[in-house]
Amino acid sequence: MTAREIYLDNSATTRVFPEVAELMNRIFQEEYGNPSSMHHKGVEAEKELRMARETLAQILKVKEKNLLFTSCGTESDNLAIIGAARAAQRRGKHLITTPIEHPAVLETMKHLESEGFEITYLPVDQDGLVAPETVADAVREDTILVSVMHTNNEIGALEPIAQIGEAIKAKNPQTLFHVDAVQGFGKAKIYPKRMHIDLLAASGHKIHGPKGVGLLYVGDNVRIRNIIYGGGQQGGMRSGTENVPGIAGMALAAKILYEHYDEDQQKLRSMKDAFIQRVSAIEGVHVNGRTGEDSAAHIISLSVEGVRAEVLLHALEDKGIYVSSGSACASNRPHISETLQAIGTSQAYLDSTIRLSTSVMNTMEDMEAAAQALEELLPMLRKYTRQ
Ligand code: PLP
Repeated sequence: MTAREIYLDNSATTRVFPEVAELMNRIFQEEYGNPSSMHHKGVEAEKELRMARETLAQILKVKEKNLLFTSCGTESDNLAIIGAARAAQRRGKHLITTPIEHPAVLETMKHLESEGFEITYLPVDQDGLVAPETVADAVREDTILVSVMHTNNEIGALEPIAQIGEAIKAKNPQTLFHVDAVQGFGKAKIYPKRMHIDLLAASGHKIHGPKGVGLLYVGDNVRIRNIIYGGGQQGGMRSGTENVPGIAGMALAAKILYEHYDEDQQKLRSMKDAFIQRVSAIEGVHVNGRTGEDSAAHIISLSVEGVRAEVLLHALEDKGIYVSSGSACASNRPHISETLQAIGTSQAYLDSTIRLSTSVMNTMEDMEAAAQALEELLPMLRKYTRQ
């Protein structure tokens, strides 16, 4: 058994805050009613839902009625994109996105393509950024939706969301703007109304909340069709008994994160800066995407010359350090990263890129240990590779 566990894979998933586990346990054990039941146990559960909705609405500065609860970020993205496309298909069948989106968006777009929708994939620059003008140029009379992620899950690119939203609306006010904020919510201040966002997806397990719960903001006057049929919960937009412990846990996790926002951001940023400074000095290590203020403070992507990502990942694991290769949250099957290809990563690096993703639960000592492990491991692993 390794002495110490250094978990640097927080963009794949996070450890639940103890307060969240405690609250959820209480709800599982005591307030276990179905929020649709008319008796006291139902009313109790309904109250938990209402409080969670209030908390999340306050954080996003939106109305409570604009929030839907789903089973994960993937479902939120599906409901937003398919729901909006089906509701607006008489007006047009054109959608726009980027090649660096998570499969929750890319695969949904592919599905719509198979149903006769037309999808435009916009180019990104070497840092993974989409220019607002490029988006505006692509918006047409028949463009029903644009989907751009807030924070890229592989390299931490922060898209200029507010400017993209403004550019879309200036070109065609009817075009909806969907933002996959699964990696941004809890780590950046996101206000859908100020940023011209019509639909916004988030997920509980990326913010020290539980797995199995997601959030979708649907703006006023934004029409989407439900994609799940059943008992008509949540105004018929998302049938199925609400996951009360999960929803309450997600809301509490978000509340904790935003209460400590400034100090946490500072901590994450200094951990990233110190780590990058240290590993940049190691021969054959290349940091992908932007660093500093205009990149996500919690995501670091490293390409490493002459060592396969999988080999490095397991060598780090032997030292109790957990990272991912490329984007592990997508799946566990080997896959060439669309994001790395889209930013022009050289062929030699495609298979040699790891991602470290931090959280408020990490410390500067964790980062030092990870940097030191890389310093020690890389020359040794390269030697093996060459033999
Ligand atoms: N979107 C992005 C950017 C993600 O990083 C992820 C998960 O890693 C998802 C969507 C899917 O979220 P979930 O795992 O909650 O389905």
